[in-house]
Formats: sequence, C-alpha cells, structure tokens
Amino acid sequence: MTHEQIIRALRRANEVARRAMAMGRHPFGAVLVAPDGETVLAEQGNIDTVHHAEATLARHAALNWPADYLWQCTLVTTFEPCAMCAGTSYWAHIGRVVYGAEESALLALTGDHPENPTLSLPCREVFARGQKKIEVIGPVPEVAEEMIATHRGFWQQR
Ligand SMILES: [Zn+2]
Repeated sequence: MTHEQIIRALRRANEVARRAMAMGRHPFGAVLVAPDGETVLAEQGNIDTVHHAEATLARHAALNWPADYLWQCTLVTTFEPCAMCAGTSYWAHIGRVVYGAEESALLALTGDHPENPTLSLPCREVFARGQKKIEVIGPVPEVAEEMIATHRGFWQQR
C-alpha cells in the first residue's frame, strides 16, 4: 500500500469506529483492503468484548476468501490490535496489518476502565512468535490523533 492509501484506509476505519460508537459500542473500526491496496472488501466495527472489530473481520475474511488471497490483503484498524485480534488475523492468513494509534495510546485513554482492561502485548510480539512473516505498519502519526480524538471523552462517560 502507498502512504496515501494507508491514510485513506485508516480514515475509513475511523468512520467505521464512529458508526460503532453511534450504535452504543466501543469506538473501534477495521477494514479489509484488497491486494490492490485500494479496494475495501469488508468493514467491521466493535461489537462487544469478545467480538472486537479486527477479530470479527478476520473471521469473516477467512470464511469468504481463500487463504492465499488473504495473504496479499491488509487488515487496517484504528488502534493496534490486541493479542486476540492479532492471533485471529494470523490464523486467517492475512499478510499485513496496519494500525493508526498504538496500544499504549489507548491505555492512556481507557485507563483501568472495566469494559476495556487492555492487554499490554504489542501485536509485533504476537506475530514474532508465529511461523509467518506478517508485515506490520503502525502507528501512523499523521492520523493517530484522529483515531485518538474519536475516543476522547468516550471512556469517561461510559
Ligand atoms: Zn482485539
């Protein structure tokens, strides 16, 4: 993906996050981008604590596209995926993960909120224990603040 494509996909994921929030869910969003780096194949917002946006999207991907195709695809998400989501993306055989803001930025926003007891385990560490070379791009400082802005105030009112 070009830098411009990454920025566009992250902003789209952030729109999905805002939609999830409008539905009363946590403001996280993810999109699955085709091998051309441009086409959005599917998008998913957060559902609940065991159906995060990225894991749900990765399962949908594995159900709908062959693994060798997904290896050329990119999972683009507003915040660094947690261990569950990184693991699901790994098993779905999605070759690249792009995230806007890092997990530590999220922890700073959510603190010890009981609805989001953040797992402090960088996705690169999860992938490093696997047997596939998953490419990880993120954080992307140019748009990270936009992702963070979506969460500002949310966890305090929750
Ligand atoms: Zn997750």
